[in-house]
Parts: sequence; C-alpha cells; structure tokens
Amino acid sequence: MRILLVEDDPMIGEAVLTALKDAAYAVDWVKDGAAADTVLDQGEHQAVLLDLGLPKRDGLEVLRRLRRAGNAIAVIVITARDGVDDRIKGLDVGADDYLVKPFDINELLARLRAVARRQGGQAGAILTNGVVSLDPATHEASHGETVVVLSAREFALLHALLLNPGRILSRTQLEERIYGWNEEVESNAVAFLIHGVRKKLGAEVIKNVRGAGWMVERPQ
Ligand code: CA
Repeated sequence: MRILLVEDDPMIGEAVLTALKDAAYAVDWVKDGAAADTVLDQGEHQAVLLDLGLPKRDGLEVLRRLRRAGNAIAVIVITARDGVDDRIKGLDVGADDYLVKPFDINELLARLRAVARRQGGQAGAILTNGVVSLDPATHEASHGETVVVLSAREFALLHALLLNPGRILSRTQLEERIYGWNEEVESNAVAFLIHGVRKKLGAEVIKNVRGAGWMVERPQ
C-alpha cells in the first residue's frame, strides 16, 4: 500500500515516514499543499496522511479539492487543531479519520489498517479471499496448514493483491504499491517477491495471468 504523507513539520514527518516504512508501507512525503495537489492528481497512492496547517495551501483545501474531483482515496487528517469544530469540519469535508497531534504512532498504524480494510471492502482485521489469509498487524500469512511471517516487501505485495481480489495487477501497478519514489526497483523485483510468497505459502495462492500480471482469486 502506497501512502502519501503531507506534513511540513520535519520532525513529525521523519518520525511518521520511518514508522510507515518499518511497517512495510511504500511512502512518499511532500511538505506543502500545492505539492500534495500535484501528486494526488497522479493517482499513485492508496491513502493520504494529511496535515491541515500547511504552506501554500491549507490541508482542508487539499481535501475539499480531492473530493470535489470525485477522488475517493482514503484520507486520515493529522493535525494539532483539536477543537471539536475543526474535527467536524475535517470529517464533513471528506476525511475518513482524524488524529490529533501529538499521537501515538501505533494508533496511526492501527487506523491505517482500518482504512485499508474498509477500502478493500473487508470488515474483519484479517484479510482473506478464502484461500490465503493475511494479518496486517503482524504480517502473518496462512494457507491451509501453513502459517508464515512474510518479509516487509512480501507483505506489501500480498496486501496489495488481497485488497483487490479477482483483479489483475500488472507489474507496474504492483511496483507502485510496494515502492516509494526514491527507491531503486530492479526490473525483476516483483517476480522475485511473487516467487518468495509462493515458496512460503504454495504456488496456487497467487495466479499468474500471462502478459497481464498477477491476482488472487475473488472469494467464492
Ligand atoms: Ca503543519
């Protein structure tokens, strides 16, 4: 899952960036509202962590513009504005969730998991298509009797597929969800990760659609 962090405070930005990377998210960081607009128009991200007090354009304006354009990307507002009115306004403009600074990074991660679940149309904490299951909190995956802990990248790959069961994701689409802007991606990186997941869980968990990409089955 690829996340856009919009935050102008360098200390908070660094802390969140590090925590997200440690949790196996691909994350890109911009520091003002105008840059956020530009990047969000490219549609590479699946969630946004959005500060409200930003240079160039206020976070609420960024959010309002997104929703007016019909963009349904998940948005978690992170801000020091803790007045009830500000929170209500943020949610009314179209935020999916709200965190007041200072916040616990583990709470942020839990909220992100919840947002990802809702986006994937799944209600439970464990993502599953009935064949393979994945726990986003622990990176534990299971298939039949086999239970393994996936590496960070393997987790990001299977997470992307399980959020879109029945949908073929191309190599480029998978790369976009697994790697951020400043990460080098080897041309065979995705194939290598697919191989790793299949080796741990069984070849049948991920289907290859020749020339198109990979998918996990839709739940029966
Ligand atoms: Ca700020």
